[in-house]
Amino acid sequence: RAKQTGRNAVHFYAPHMNAHALDRLALEGALRGALRDDQFELHFQPQVDLHSGRVVGTEALIRWRHPHLGTVRPDRFIALAEETGLIVPIGAWVLEKACRQNREWQRAGLGPLRIAVNLSARQFAEPGLVQTVRGVLDDTGLDADSLEIELTESMMMADVEAAIETMRGLKAMGVKLSIDDFGTGYSSLAYLKRFPVDVLKIDQSFVRDIVGNADGAALVDAIISLAHGLRKQVIAEGVETIEQLDYLRDCGCDEVQGHIYARPEPSGDVEALLRRGRVEPAPADA
Ligand code: C2E
Ligand code: MG
Ligand code: MG
Ligand code: MG
Repeated sequence: RAKQTGRNAVHFYAPHMNAHALDRLALEGALRGALRDDQFELHFQPQVDLHSGRVVGTEALIRWRHPHLGTVRPDRFIALAEETGLIVPIGAWVLEKACRQNREWQRAGLGPLRIAVNLSARQFAEPGLVQTVRGVLDDTGLDADSLEIELTESMMMADVEAAIETMRGLKAMGVKLSIDDFGTGYSSLAYLKRFPVDVLKIDQSFVRDIVGNADGAALVDAIISLAHGLRKQVIAEGVETIEQLDYLRDCGCDEVQGHIYARPEPSGDVEALLRRGRVEPAPADA
């Protein structure tokens, strides 16, 4: 193997190393053109009320389809977009698109649906955020209380006082706030009391631990009690099995989101589901 020709050696080593070095640069270059070239798309994942079985809203999740790179997952480009600042225009696009789509669904009589939109740290720290949201609601005609903005603990903890101020600004116009990936960040319970949020989203890592792990199950039960004690709603994310669903229902969880009901899908596919109004839990094929 060590005795290969120079050309082969280059072939053996270079692609791997270059792929790594170029990846980031290529990705950054490509990301710059993505908005202009209309390569982003939103998928929507239903959120289901556990008591009624009805779809009460969806979460908008960004997808990037690059002609050569293929589909790039948000986990791979959100951080880069964040570092480069590109997340601000991208995030504005997501907000606009999501609110417009939800308003269309409401107009079509599909219900008083809510739309949840993820914000990035940079977007949340932008001084003009509250105005931007106001502008999007005005432009799209969506009622503020149909919009839920998802924040993470780390975003809130970066500058607690500024975060509370921004949250108050959003709450004042009627927008709902939720804490995404709840329990995985670094906020303390002392802050939870001060953050004016409406909803806690139980992270999927906790949901995964419900079955076969007594401590994991106890933790989920405790988070739900904590949320309700603080007069907040709870939604569990990443729910995949009937066992998880049954346990969450027993604990009084309000809503669930996960593959057990539906995966994130393009607007057209979600619309078909919204027309039916309710979804049946269906465990994914093994
Ligand atoms: P998130 O906001 O916590 O979104 C939930 C993630 O879990 C989504 O991954 C969703 O597809 C996935 N998921 C939903 N149900 C299940 C399930 O039953 N099992 C499993 N294993 N996964 C499930 P996705 O779409 O790849 O997004 C990853 C993360 O990227 C999001 O996590 C969010 O933090 C971020 N993200 C997505 N869209 C946006 C966006 O428009 N703006 C910003 N700033 N971040 C976004
Ligand atoms: Mg989210
Ligand atoms: Mg999450
Ligand atoms: Mg997340």
